[in-house]
Amino acid sequence: MSWLGKKAEKVERSSAVAPSLVAALRALDRESIILDSNGFIKYETSKISLLNLVKDNRILSEELLALVRVVRKSGKTQEGSIEVARSQIGEGKRELQITAALIDNVGSVLVIIDDEGEKQRIDAIRRDFITNISHELKTPIQALSLNSDALLEIKDEPEKVVLFANKIKTQTIRLNDLVKEIINLSKIQDSDPLDMAHNVEISNVIAEAVDQCEVLAEARKISINLDGVQNTVVVGNREQLVMAVHNLVENAINYSSEGTNVVISSKLDDGLIEILVKDQGLGIAEENLDRIFERFYRVDPARSRATGGTGLGLSIVKHVITNHGGEVKVWSSMGVGSTFAIRLPIANEGAGI
Ligand code: ADP
Repeated sequence: MSWLGKKAEKVERSSAVAPSLVAALRALDRESIILDSNGFIKYETSKISLLNLVKDNRILSEELLALVRVVRKSGKTQEGSIEVARSQIGEGKRELQITAALIDNVGSVLVIIDDEGEKQRIDAIRRDFITNISHELKTPIQALSLNSDALLEIKDEPEKVVLFANKIKTQTIRLNDLVKEIINLSKIQDSDPLDMAHNVEISNVIAEAVDQCEVLAEARKISINLDGVQNTVVVGNREQLVMAVHNLVENAINYSSEGTNVVISSKLDDGLIEILVKDQGLGIAEENLDRIFERFYRVDPARSRATGGTGLGLSIVKHVITNHGGEVKVWSSMGVGSTFAIRLPIANEGAGI
């Protein structure tokens, strides 16, 4: 069953729609809209409001409006695929398959929406991802294989045995970190946050992410300070949002020296909430700023490895936030520190996910 069809409660906006038609639409595993002859929405299913497709009872998407115009002009049913921005900010898009048809002789148009295109897009990401992982897993597996061969050869020299056994242990831990992160990423890539869309409180997300990083911060003698957390509600998947904020805080700790501070704040700004994670760490050189969000990209692979890094943390952040209709920004200065910002549309501000 597609996510669009999941638990789709139908909302009737006007009694002008025949109950038998509403019943028929209810039986479909799709979202739908009925427009009157003036282009006003007289019926829409509940999840339509999350698709950033309509505003003030009218269709927002130019592409969809064009399709509806063709239906009116030709009188014929039209099918097509449209791309819809997930919100007013960020690069997040969703591809939707549309069928639009005239349903009476007074110009009412029924629009039925399917997310088939979204599934194809996720499939393409998945294929690309598998190629990437296979490559990344090869290195630690090869190292493990070489070191276990070496261990067999020096089995009668106790000091060397300890040395190689330790190497094997480190590589196993690394492999474990990689596999854990890969599982996280694949879970996220397979699901649209709309699947389990809930109202999520931002202060709660920040509190949990910070909580998860306390032990690491203590071990590295870094203090985490909350500096003015403004609260609001966004629509999405709480677990994924906690993971995103957690990854930023964890990086802020890992790429900073002992005795420094990590400051987390959030503020409301014109229909958006901005979560800031600021460190006094190593900083990131200008030329790397664009690349750090790529999967497996690490500025300094040795340092990243030493802190259990996999090069996947920021790609998870970007993926989660983009899919929630938001964006991630970074400012950094070498030797001074970095600030990462997550910006998300606030629930019920006309922004979908
Ligand atoms: P990793 O698992 O290596 O930390 P990420 O995807 O989280 O992977 O980050 C990619 C790279 O970006 C890191 O390897 C590091 O070089 C750099 N980076 C991320 N966050 C910070 C930060 N707060 N300060 C300095 N460098 C950072």
